[in-house]
Formats: sequence, structure tokens, C-alpha cells
Amino acid sequence: MTEPDVEAPAEAPVEVPAPALPPEAMMPPLPPIELPSVLAIANQKGGVGKTTTAVNLGAALAELGFRVLVVDLDPQGNATTGLGISHRNVEGSVYDVVMNDVPVEDCVEPTSVRNLFVIPATIDLAGAEIELVPAMSRELKLRRALGAVSGDYDFVLIDCPPSLGLLTVNGLAAADAVLVPIQCEYYALEGLGQLLRNVKLVRTNLNPTLEMRGIVLTMFDARTKLAEQVEREVRLHFGSRVYRTVVPRTVRISEAPSFGQPIIVFDSSSRGAIAYRELAKEVSRGASRRAG
Ligand code: ADP
Ligand code: MG
Repeated sequence: MTEPDVEAPAEAPVEVPAPALPPEAMMPPLPPIELPSVLAIANQKGGVGKTTTAVNLGAALAELGFRVLVVDLDPQGNATTGLGISHRNVEGSVYDVVMNDVPVEDCVEPTSVRNLFVIPATIDLAGAEIELVPAMSRELKLRRALGAVSGDYDFVLIDCPPSLGLLTVNGLAAADAVLVPIQCEYYALEGLGQLLRNVKLVRTNLNPTLEMRGIVLTMFDARTKLAEQVEREVRLHFGSRVYRTVVPRTVRISEAPSFGQPIIVFDSSSRGAIAYRELAKEVSRGASRRAG
């Protein structure tokens, strides 16, 4: 008699679903970044750490002495509030920049961190996704606007919304490189192929120098085998394009935004603060000034 089927024990290894990634997924290493640099932080999945990375990488780069501008391109406005700016006090927002050709410098707000600035988002940005449809050069609105301040900042970090719509296309078209946060959880890689295809489309049609610069592993929970498996899988596919720094899942990181503070201010010696400082060093390591 054969053994009856038994359910797999809970600790059985979990298969991490492998995405259908384009062959160029495994890309050669890139040289150090050239400044000024515009980085789009993109992933059409919500809740993977885009905003947390925009705010905290931005703050950590500013702490290193770089002048940093965070562009909040998500109608949710979480980067805005996370940097201590109340939507009520916003005079000019990224909506005005993209839809009404208001100069960027009229919309930049300082933050509590020296060298760190933000172009806030308000909820009216939600309308831009539709209002942009009939606009002239609709994909290049942000690129043109930011062009006027290139040179004023070493790093511009664009916090993209969780979609592949026109706002994200504007973010990708305005950027020199894409950073993709990936949450170390099940289905982490799902949708990544689509994102990479979109990056390629933007490169072909709008922005030939756009680079896929790096993947940031976020919300790593060292207590789970799954997190390690996701990390291994991502490094296998993307090799040197994955930052060595892994951002741990910590309660302090998730608490900081409600105080309007980046983690390096909220809890300067916490594991999250240390990780984002490491990431800032890695992103800016060997940075040189663009010629011309
Ligand atoms: P996205 O911008 O991709 O939608 P967020 O950065 O807003 O994602 O993160 C989603 C949620 O997860 C937020 O509540 C945020 O505070 C929380 N979070 C992000 N990174 C971490 C982390 N490393 N540890 C714990 N919570 C995190
Ligand atoms: Mg976000």
C-alpha cells in the first residue's frame, strides 16, 4: 500500500516564480554615475519601497553633501508628506510644473534636511494622467521642465507612481537612469519583465541614454527563507546591477513618514538609517562630473 498524500510541511522550500525576463536582463556592470544625475525610482507595483527609497536615499545623499531634489510624481503625495511638507501649505506642485508650465524653481520646497529639496505632489496630479493624453509632447513635459534646473542639483530623484502610465513615462523620459526597488517577497519579480520592456520602449522612442542602473532590494526580512531566495534569484538575473546594500524590513522605517522625517533624522543609528546611508554611498561611489 502506498503512503497517503500528505500536505507539504510549512517549512518546505517555496518556489520563487521566475519571470519571463528579456535576454538583456543580465547586463554588464556600469561605470560610476556621472553628475548631475536624474534617477527615476520606478516599479509599477505599489508598496515595494519606491517612496521610502526616494525619501531616504535622497536624505542620505544630501547628508553626504550632495544637493538633492526629490520630485514627487505620485498623486498620493507620500514623498511630500514623508519629507515633512503638508499638502495644505503647497503653493506650486509638480502638477503645475507638468500641466501649467510653471517653472520648477517656483515649486521647490526646502526640507528639514540641509541640501534636500522637494517638488511636492498634490492630489490634483491624479488628473494629469488623463489631462496629459491630448497634450503636445506629453511624454516630455517633465524632462523639459527639469532641464531648466539641471546643474542646480547633483541628484534628482523622481518618485514614480505605481503604474506604467503617462506620469511614469514622463519620469523615465526625464531620467538618466532607473532605480527599481524590489520587495523581498513572493511575486517580487512578477511584472519586472513588463517594466524592463517599458524602459526599453522609452529608450527607443524618447530617451536613448536611459540606463537601467540598479535594483534595490527592500523590506528584507532575515527571518524568512523566502527573502533569501528572492535575493538569490534577483542577483542571478541581474548580477552587478543589483546594489549590494539590502534594506531591511524595520518598524522604524515605516514609522518615520508619519513624523515627516527621513529615517536618518528620525532614528539616526537604526538599521534602516545605516542601510540607506550605505545605499547612498554605493549609488554615488566614484561619481564624476559630466563633461561640458
Ligand atoms: P511604494 O512607494 O513603492 O508604493 P512605499 O515606499 O510607500 O512603497 O512602501 C510601502 C509601505 O511599506 C509603506 O507603509 C512604508 O512605510 C513601508 N516600508 C517601506 N520600506 C520599508 C522597510 N524597509 N521596512 C518596513 N516598512 C517599509
Ligand atoms: Mg510611493
